[in-house]
Amino acid sequence: MQGTGGRWWVPGYGSVVDPDVAKVATIIIGFGFAGCAFPLLTVLLPHPAIRWTVFWFIAAIALVEAVVMVSDLRGLIGSEFRPAPPAKTLAQVLAAVVATGLANYVGVGTHSYFYALILLPVLIAAVVGNGAFLAVVWLATMGMLVGTALAAGVPTDSLPILLISCGVAALAGGVMVHMLQVTLLRVYHMFLRLAETTDVVLRAAGFDEALAQFLPLVAAQADVRRVDAYWGDATRMELIASCPRGGSVPATPIPPGAVSVQGGQGRTVTGFTIGADTTTIFSVGTSQQVVVLVLNRGKPGWYSETAYRFSVNRLAAVLGLLVQHQDFLDRLDLLGSTDGLTGLANRRTLTARLEAELSEARLRDRPFTLAMIDLDLFKDYNDTFGHQLGDVALIELGRLLRARARETDLVARYGGEEFCVVLPDTNLEEATRWMGEVQAQARALPTRRPLTCSVGLASSEGHDRVDAVLRAADTALYGAKAAGRDRIMLATAPPDRPGWGFRVDADPYAARPA
Ligand code: GH3
Ligand code: MG
Ligand code: MG
Repeated sequence: MQGTGGRWWVPGYGSVVDPDVAKVATIIIGFGFAGCAFPLLTVLLPHPAIRWTVFWFIAAIALVEAVVMVSDLRGLIGSEFRPAPPAKTLAQVLAAVVATGLANYVGVGTHSYFYALILLPVLIAAVVGNGAFLAVVWLATMGMLVGTALAAGVPTDSLPILLISCGVAALAGGVMVHMLQVTLLRVYHMFLRLAETTDVVLRAAGFDEALAQFLPLVAAQADVRRVDAYWGDATRMELIASCPRGGSVPATPIPPGAVSVQGGQGRTVTGFTIGADTTTIFSVGTSQQVVVLVLNRGKPGWYSETAYRFSVNRLAAVLGLLVQHQDFLDRLDLLGSTDGLTGLANRRTLTARLEAELSEARLRDRPFTLAMIDLDLFKDYNDTFGHQLGDVALIELGRLLRARARETDLVARYGGEEFCVVLPDTNLEEATRWMGEVQAQARALPTRRPLTCSVGLASSEGHDRVDAVLRAADTALYGAKAAGRDRIMLATAPPDRPGWGFRVDADPYAARPA
């Protein structure tokens, strides 16, 4: 019996049982029934000539079965954590079926010892089958028993019957123990995978990488057909990753407004809800962004509802860890890349951005302009109004620069009261115009006295190193200071505007007043 996707299956159980076990079980159940049916044949057709035919037939079946079992068992034992116990159990059950069948036949007569055989297919079904399958097997074997009883009568007082019944009872006990072992093995496997999910989250470099490794584990862990990960807030949830496990189960979209985030900033909330055939695991990070996993269960697997809830509960906790971990990384990134006072990019971010812009500018032949801004006589501002109001002035100027910058620009705090703005795709003329407007707006800021600043502008054109661009802007800035402050100076005059701005030729550091 071959199921969809090349998997072996047992009726009513195929997509759930491990395919290797299902394959073995399918063969065993088939042969198990044969083991009962052929002795029955000798009851119904009690001709001596048939007996030896049936005997060799059963012997041949036993041989074929042994070969199949050995190759399957080797495969099962070779694979890690495959439930070898049920396969071994089934092999024992099978051997008992064949041995009993042979013993029945070679002994006094099949009809005398048939009684014990009826339990064997039931036991096999109990190991690998579900409730419906078990019921069918019961009915079939009961039918066989009634048929046998009607044909030959079932003796109740013979010693062999007693012995075989004891053997069957012992076998049933063995099967129960093995089933328990299998259950324990599965529970162990479940915990192992849960631990693995935590490892994956902690070891991954970032959220995307962690999620890519986490989803397949979730899919395997909770025995689901599909897992989808969404990211967003109360207004919009976006599908960011999926893990379908074969078949064509469509993703379950999350409608707008379905997710509501409660609790204040900085709270991490994790949880899950179990629906008819979908389970939703959600986690809210400190940024109030929600990560939602939708598990499409379809047909519940071997998980009991309790085990499933436990597993999903733990997965929710791990998802929470994943979100928290990412929040932590984000915060670390923010601390390392921004300035604490103004919230602007810091010098490290500026340098990195300049590197990127410089190679981009060269690649596309579209130079950028760097503006270096230094507040005029700011020491005096501090001395007059105090450092706290000085800080407020720095924050105000930072805010203004950010408000006036485009999305693609980068505003950074370069030093104490020095700021830098990277203006991609902007020539010196455009930058000068923009800077002039900002200067005018800075003067109008609600500070204790109008803020004036000196600006040095440098184009990336002709430079192939970041420090050269910075030095050019710095040189122009010192030129502006030297020329009387509150002005814009260009490190390089545009080629078509020779009289434009201020050409800085001499090294201003040499000429700088002490
Ligand atoms: P100019 O640039 O026009 O030549 O004069 P200046 O007084 O601004 O020049 P200088 O570079 O000598 O002084 C910079 C001052 O900026 C010194 C310091 O008090 C102030 N400053 C630097 N960082 C901060 C800060 O974080 N907060 C405050 N309140 N002041 C700062
Ligand atoms: Mg200054
Ligand atoms: Mg300064």
